[in-house]
Amino acid sequence: AKDLGKNNCQFYTREMNATIERKLHMLEGLRNAVDEGQFQLVYQPKVDLRTGHVFGVEALVRWLHPEYGLLGPDRFIPLAEESGIIFALGEWVLQTACRQNQLWQEAGLSPLRISVNVSPRQFEEQRLVQRVAQALEESGLAPEWLELEVTEGVIMRDLQQAVAKMGELRAMGISLSIDDFGTGYSSLSALKSFPISTLKIDKSFVRDLGSNAGDEAIASSIIGLAHQLRLRVIAEGVETEEQRAFLRHNGCDEMQGYLFSRPLAPEQLRQLLLRQSPP
Ligand code: C2E
Ligand code: CA
Ligand code: CA
Ligand code: CA
Repeated sequence: AKDLGKNNCQFYTREMNATIERKLHMLEGLRNAVDEGQFQLVYQPKVDLRTGHVFGVEALVRWLHPEYGLLGPDRFIPLAEESGIIFALGEWVLQTACRQNQLWQEAGLSPLRISVNVSPRQFEEQRLVQRVAQALEESGLAPEWLELEVTEGVIMRDLQQAVAKMGELRAMGISLSIDDFGTGYSSLSALKSFPISTLKIDKSFVRDLGSNAGDEAIASSIIGLAHQLRLRVIAEGVETEEQRAFLRHNGCDEMQGYLFSRPLAPEQLRQLLLRQSPP
């Protein structure tokens, strides 16, 4: 029994070393990934629920890793946050998204609003406002065509400071939305002091619309709350016709999800928009 314990111990140590090594290896790769041009953005359409019109896109980052292939953000954003690489990565995302949106406009597509995710450390960084201003200036994109998506948790960490920063961003002319709404714990009374334009219903509440009365109650409450505060409301993760019908009948304004489209490469998105409104 003693021997077995010892072996187990060695086994776990080896496992742990492997995990740490993999993490260090990822971290090393991540440090160079911006310079090496290994990140890509894909763009998921946001659709008006009444008209079916695409009015915007959300930019979502991917890492084309030289060994592991295409990685989704859940595989590297936490590490980027932890290590501070998120500042360089976030700046790249902002610049690339603004430039791409300006390119689409210059190519004659009807203007879209582009939404960019901002993670906690990025939002708290002193230079965020400056970085946003710079991305707009360098790309030539008008501020009305940029939106930042921020989660509730980020705002609630330091409410006063967050509201002040949101005010500065609003004053620049960009829009703000609360992502994953309903999963955090922002007090409803705080919500009215946020200079935001949209609430996004988290996909965990969307999944069982049509079959789960609890989720239906939550979704319709968020829609009602948003409208009372004169905000627009969008649902993410819409995959079925049933979910879409529920949201439409309950007055949700916008939707995003695989039912309409997966996130697309820039050229694919352009094709989709051309089909929507031929020049
Ligand atoms: P999120 O902001 O909540 O983004 C929505 C996620 O749901 C995306 O996953 C999207 O691809 C996925 N999705 C879209 N439609 C559907 C659907 O119909 N069903 C299901 N099941 N999922 C759907 P993704 O691209 O893997 O991104 C995951 C998270 O990573 C994002 O969650 C966001 O928090 C973060 N993220 C993505 N891009 C960036 C970025 O550029 N910067 C930062 N800081 N975070 C990012
Ligand atoms: Ca988002
Ligand atoms: Ca979300
Ligand atoms: Ca999410």
